[in-house]
Amino acid sequence: MGKKVFVLAELREGVLRNVSFEAIAAGKQLADGGEIIALLMGESVQSYTQELIAYGADRVITIESDQLKHYTSDGYSQCLLTAIEKEQPDVLIMGHTALGKDLSPKIANRLNVGLISDITAIENIDNQWTFIRPIYSGKAFERKKMVGDFIFVTIRPNNIEAIEKDDTRTGAVAAIDVEVKDLAMTIKEVIRKASEGVDLAEAKVVVAGGRGVKSADGFKPLQELADVLGGAVGASRGACDADYCDYSLQIGQTGKVVTPDLYIACGISGAIQHLAGMSNSKVIVAINKDPEANIFQVADYGIVGDLFEVVPLLTEEFRKIKA
Ligand code: FAD
Repeated sequence: MGKKVFVLAELREGVLRNVSFEAIAAGKQLADGGEIIALLMGESVQSYTQELIAYGADRVITIESDQLKHYTSDGYSQCLLTAIEKEQPDVLIMGHTALGKDLSPKIANRLNVGLISDITAIENIDNQWTFIRPIYSGKAFERKKMVGDFIFVTIRPNNIEAIEKDDTRTGAVAAIDVEVKDLAMTIKEVIRKASEGVDLAEAKVVVAGGRGVKSADGFKPLQELADVLGGAVGASRGACDADYCDYSLQIGQTGKVVTPDLYIACGISGAIQHLAGMSNSKVIVAINKDPEANIFQVADYGIVGDLFEVVPLLTEEFRKIKA
């Protein structure tokens, strides 16, 4: 019998995050012909519902409140639990994003169910759903199964492919009224330090700079390459510690974990703590003037050379291809 799947959609700066569409695709696998219900919360969210349907949601439930303008675990959990109580889904999926990492353990605890976090793939083995997740900073993978009947997973962005968008798809949209109350905290304003542009966690291409970039200005050629490729700029902690860029760009064990299609590491030595955040990228290109640099151990393509010569050449060539 088909399952009822709940997918938590996420908005970031007025745009639906791709991981919402990837979660719908994961839900399709688990639904077994059942219904995919996307849940969307915020201050005013009606204009985003059709996009969720176009990406495969059969139904969208909206919860609107001025208390939901900014994410708080209290506010979102009150709404999500109310919707779960009302709809009784069999499966719950959210992105393994900052929001999902904060919210999912709280929801699992309240529902008294298990949670398999940060999954990168789903397999059906002997008629049982099996979830694959990286462990030991991406050096190994484990397969996990839920013990109970309820399935609750968070999915790592950029790993499960979204279904092709079909604007002709139709689906029902309904609102649930929730009185959001007794919030332990309210957020007045969010001040983003990161630059505008492509979201680093979801970028298909990441151009990352390390201490070899040598200064804040040294990041400019990297930004140009990222712009040509429609990607985002990231950094090693070495570059952040040296004040060449903001810590919001840091990739690694104590920074962001990214899995883009293409990761270009420029002037990064490849310390184990950096590899923890990027070694599962699909294709890794390393540019380093030291042929012995550890980054070449994980790179699919290595360029031994000065990044200030190599990066502008790459940008020029990609520009020609794109023209
Ligand atoms: P370096 O190791 O100094 O490497 C610079 C590289 O640039 C060298 O390989 C050099 O050959 C090359 N280079 C120099 N000039 C050029 C040029 N002109 N052209 C090409 N190449 C050039 N690090 C992270 O990145 N992320 C983390 O999340 C993280 N978490 C940590 C957590 C802990 C608890 C600890 C102890 C450390 C952590 N680190 C982390 C730090 C990590 O150990 C390294 O110190 C850091 O990654 C080094 O940064 P880097 O590669 O930019 O600098």
